[in-house]
Amino acid sequence: MSNHHHRNGWSRRDFIVTGVAGLAAAACNHGNSKTGGGSAASSAVNQSTFVFRKLGRTNITLPVVSMGSMNNPELIEAAFDQGVVHIDTSSAHARGNNERIIGRMVRNRPRDSFVIATSTGVDVFRDHRTELIRADADPHAVYESFEGSLERLGLDYVDIYYLAANWDRRTVMFEPFMKVLERMKKEGRTRFVGVTTHRNEPNVIHAAADSGFYDVVATAYNFRQHHRAQVREAIAHAAEAGLGVVAFKTQAGVYWDEERQHMINMRAALKWVLEDTNVHTTVPAFNTYEELREGLSVMSSLPLTPREREDLRLGDTMGWRGLYCQQCQQCRPQCPHRQDIPTLMRGHMYAIGYGDIDRARETLHTASVSMTPCRDCSQCTVRCAAGFDVQSRVAALHHRLA
Ligand code: SF4
Ligand code: SF4
Repeated sequence: MSNHHHRNGWSRRDFIVTGVAGLAAAACNHGNSKTGGGSAASSAVNQSTFVFRKLGRTNITLPVVSMGSMNNPELIEAAFDQGVVHIDTSSAHARGNNERIIGRMVRNRPRDSFVIATSTGVDVFRDHRTELIRADADPHAVYESFEGSLERLGLDYVDIYYLAANWDRRTVMFEPFMKVLERMKKEGRTRFVGVTTHRNEPNVIHAAADSGFYDVVATAYNFRQHHRAQVREAIAHAAEAGLGVVAFKTQAGVYWDEERQHMINMRAALKWVLEDTNVHTTVPAFNTYEELREGLSVMSSLPLTPREREDLRLGDTMGWRGLYCQQCQQCRPQCPHRQDIPTLMRGHMYAIGYGDIDRARETLHTASVSMTPCRDCSQCTVRCAAGFDVQSRVAALHHRLA
């Protein structure tokens, strides 16, 4: 096997030669022992079946499946070759290396053939004790971070620039940041501006819609969210206000179990999000050609089949907790040591579900969370809203990071 082969045995060459439709058909013969994946490849697709939606009041129209941050250059190239237009990255991913990789991938492509979004981490400007924007938060640092992104991407402008990781109205409406974003736009260095959120999403989305300032909102959205009805309602408000809506964390942690034996049906999870027509595009992270093929094939038939709906209920029927942390914060006051458990659980999801140790480490680092938490605690007193055994998950994360 060449070193370009990945899990499931598909390589970039196979992907290009066979195409999406061919791989879909071929994958049927390979079978798939992962739970929920059996029917995944049953319908062949090609680019002519792509479904497009307009990103709010921006003049950008995109396929409903785009791509999140990926570090494999060949996979990114394959995605572009197969018709993916939009890629979402961040200055925080792989310490800026993801932007460098993407910059190399787009260097020889016509500028109007791709849409790039990147972001700065608002988290960096937050006081982690009070959870408020620090009094000394310097908006110029946002601009500097933005310039760093442009340099790493090798671009004169990006299409969307986000303030990342918002979780309250106050941050979304923080005027000094808005002024800096406005300047970027006026200078023609970003076409549109937005906010991202993976915690307290409904409040953030409503605030972005009310602001009259932001063009796009990117939010965590998936079938496992306990508050998905509220997220859906907020998304409707944002779409009504003319904002573009991008959904991430659509795979809800990727696996049902920590042993990675039972994968969530990716097609079903994506379709669940796209059933909501107020979502304009999604940015799942593809780790393999197989996952890319499966993600793109969703567009051949968007409605969920009865079998796919059943697959999405596997967590309930099998009692699987999954890897997706709700970021609800209910655990925090319960911990006598005030550990930032939601961030630890997000790190756990990246390390175990995504298999991305670097991202797990970055997540902890950005939020100034200890790499060796819970060490001196004999018994965990936390009752997680999602039923996670927090102490054992922290131990598993620690083990992976070590
Ligand atoms: S209570 Fe559980 S689901 Fe909620 S933030 Fe804490 S770890 Fe995550
Ligand atoms: S084991 Fe539980 S109670 Fe103890 S520090 Fe960790 S999260 Fe807190």
